[in-house]
Amino acid sequence: MTDRVDKLRSSKPFSLLDAVIIVIVSLLCLVPLFIPKKTGKTVSVTYRGKTSVYELSADRIIDFDGKIKVEIKGGKVRVSESDCPSHTCVARGYVSNAGETIVCLPNDLVVRVSGEEIDAVTGGGV
Ligand SMILES: [Zn+2]
Repeated sequence: MTDRVDKLRSSKPFSLLDAVIIVIVSLLCLVPLFIPKKTGKTVSVTYRGKTSVYELSADRIIDFDGKIKVEIKGGKVRVSESDCPSHTCVARGYVSNAGETIVCLPNDLVVRVSGEEIDAVTGGGV
């Protein structure tokens, strides 16, 4: 008889432990919203299928066939000039957080900020 009572107690439909687990799981789902954005360290620029990686710390302007220019300045990157019709890529402005991208479809250009060091991106180095 006592066994049966214990069993009933332990199989309560909604125990405190369940509640705690539910709360933890819900919080875990929200965590990505609160993780501070990772600052980018490098930027990979893919132009017509060819990818080059640049450090965000070194200011430079990269000219692609005189059609589109990518500017790295002060740890941020943007498309500064483009001959594409919509100029969406130029309007995007500067991006600097890891994972952010700028895409120019007409020019087949993808700019992608990465939080990795340049050696990690290329998998090599000197
Ligand atoms: Zn564009």
